[in-house]
Amino acid sequence: MYGNKKIIFIIFGIMLSFLVTIIVVLIVNFREFTLNQELTKDETIASLVKDGLTAHMASGTMEQRELFLKNAKKSSNAKDIWIFRTKKVTDLFGKGFRNETLRDAIDKEVIKKGKIKTTLTEGLINPTLRITIPYIATSNSNPDCLTCHTNAKEGDVLGGITMVFDIESARIGGVVTILKIIGISLFFIMIFLLITNRLLKPYVGALMSIKESLKKASRGDYSSRIEINGNDESAEAFKWLNTLFEKLEDTINSIEKNISLFVSDRKQKFNDPLEKAKYVIEDIATLYKFKRTIEQDISKDVIYQRLVRIFKDELNVADLSLYEVDIKKDIRVLIYDDTPEKFCEKADILTSIRCRAYRTNSIISSDDFKNVCQVCKTNKEYLCINYQIDENISLVLNIKPKSKEELFENKKTIGYIKNYLESARPVLQNKILTEILQKSNMIDGLTQIFNRKYLDVFMDTKIKNYKEYSLAMIDIDFFKKVNDTFGHDAGDIVLKGLSDIFKKAIAKDDIAFRFGGEEFLIFMPNPKNALKTIQKIKDDFANKTFNLNGDNLNKTLSAGIACYSNDGSSPWHIIKYADVAMYEAKNSGRNRIVLYKDIEKGKTNLKDGDEY
Ligand code: GH3
Ligand code: MG
Ligand code: MG
Repeated sequence: MYGNKKIIFIIFGIMLSFLVTIIVVLIVNFREFTLNQELTKDETIASLVKDGLTAHMASGTMEQRELFLKNAKKSSNAKDIWIFRTKKVTDLFGKGFRNETLRDAIDKEVIKKGKIKTTLTEGLINPTLRITIPYIATSNSNPDCLTCHTNAKEGDVLGGITMVFDIESARIGGVVTILKIIGISLFFIMIFLLITNRLLKPYVGALMSIKESLKKASRGDYSSRIEINGNDESAEAFKWLNTLFEKLEDTINSIEKNISLFVSDRKQKFNDPLEKAKYVIEDIATLYKFKRTIEQDISKDVIYQRLVRIFKDELNVADLSLYEVDIKKDIRVLIYDDTPEKFCEKADILTSIRCRAYRTNSIISSDDFKNVCQVCKTNKEYLCINYQIDENISLVLNIKPKSKEELFENKKTIGYIKNYLESARPVLQNKILTEILQKSNMIDGLTQIFNRKYLDVFMDTKIKNYKEYSLAMIDIDFFKKVNDTFGHDAGDIVLKGLSDIFKKAIAKDDIAFRFGGEEFLIFMPNPKNALKTIQKIKDDFANKTFNLNGDNLNKTLSAGIACYSNDGSSPWHIIKYADVAMYEAKNSGRNRIVLYKDIEKGKTNLKDGDEY
């Protein structure tokens, strides 16, 4: 039961209880009053009848008493009337008429005690009031009782009179009065309730409407309005409340619409736009902090590592690998990989053909279609996401969930992953541009390998990350002669030819630097392969025939190799030792490789297969 009906019902309940209490009190009091009244009246009648009889007795007309009693019964409306006499009276005056005997225990009790007795018989029908009055012998009366009742003494009970009155009409009168009171009271209660209902209705209606509106608002629906009836102060208050709801609805809808532009959907689904806005703002704040952090990062590699950590630690993404696709070269480089099994092909595939995620620029999930990625050689789950950073670079994230459930969970994080990538994109673009600029400044224009400037940067910042490495100093033998004989441009062709040989011969992690004019430095983080690599360079160069202005030319080179940390503990010292070894190669006849560690032993000409 709702609203004013409830209030009216409560008021009605209270009033009815009050009325019932009043009626009960009235009934009790009324009964008492009516009975007392009846008693007084009937006692008076009984006394009068008694006195009348006494008068008959005194005037010697007792034989007419039956007629008197009959008349008394009729005029007093008594139901029954009888007199009775004691033994002392019957001894003197006989038994009297046949019905002048003790009729019951009450008559006997009155005779015995000499006191008036009233008895009330209350049934559902025919209620009666009985009064029994004793005749007591006294000399103070007129006539003196003892004159005639010679065998009696003062105070003896001589007989009595019993009168039975019907009190039905008194009772009916009482009931009618009570019913009238009930009727009138109910009438006024109904009037009161109707007025109350009419007055309360608009307030209660509005209150219920406020309750419903607030209930909906708490669930995120701000569209409902309060129904306004009337024109009083409450109506004005409700109007303000409606204005507040309107503003809230407009503002929240606008927040929701605008905020959704910034971030993808969260994992949770929200019915309440305010709650959604709260979480989305949290996401935006997190992304803002992330962006501020990566702006301070030194390189794109650091940002990549940070992204991977966030995907794994914050978003609980499963095992994953991250590839950077060089769009122009159409190959990819593995940035990060912690997958126990290799699901995908080797890193340097032709991405535009082999990588479905990159080719279609869509999310590839193992639950989309059986063997959706034909490159993937596993029956396990996978989820691949492509995200283009700029016209040169795209990132491919290859997630490997351990189960269908994990795949499902990881899929829910795609929006977050894209949010992070979206935030990182401008920063990554800046870093890539900066790195390109730095690189162009640090790459030798003729040979397209790193120049001396980058060597300085490398020696100062990066080389300390390696626990061991070899450095080889390479110098072309009698190079001046090329310039002198064929000209400077021909010399450039030879220099370019040698740098091409470097690019093919060195390992992926090796780095070639142009150290000076026709001197080169090769950094090799794996010393075991160092000699083999330089040997191949030396042989390839010696076997390369340059056609210069119609003449064929073959050149040789000399090289020196030193190793960190076997030969020295300072990087620059290792360069120096490689240079020393290279000069040793020159001095000992050129077209050879000298290991710094062998110089003292006099071993200067190494053959293929010698280990360093
Ligand atoms: P060695 O066997 O002792 O090394 O004899 P070499 O003639 O090679 O002597 P050296 O190493 O001193 O020769 C260096 C020459 O390289 C001198 C310089 O003219 C030439 N050179 C330096 N830079 C360039 C360049 O960029 N282009 C050309 N064409 N020549 C260069
Ligand atoms: Mg030189
Ligand atoms: Mg030289």
